[in-house]
Amino acid sequence: MRIAADLDRCEGHGLCVDQAPEVFDLDDEGDLVLLVEGEVPAAQEAAAGRAVDACPVAALRRA
Ligand code: SF4
Repeated sequence: MRIAADLDRCEGHGLCVDQAPEVFDLDDEGDLVLLVEGEVPAAQEAAAGRAVDACPVAALRRA
C-alpha cells in the first residue's frame, strides 16, 4: 500500500500522526510530512490505514 496525501486539503489536525506516528508527522508549521516514501512497510500498513480513515478532511487515501 502507498499513501497519497493532498497537502492543500490537509488542515493539520494531526489525527493521522496519532494513529501512525511512524508514517506521518507534522512539521513546525503544522504541515503534514510523510515519513515513508513509496510502499508503506507491512508492519505499518494497519496503522496507516487507520490514519487514512481518521483524517477528518479526507486528505489521505490509499494509493
Ligand atoms: S489527519 Fe488529515 S488533516 Fe489532519 S494532519 Fe493528517 S492528513 Fe492533515
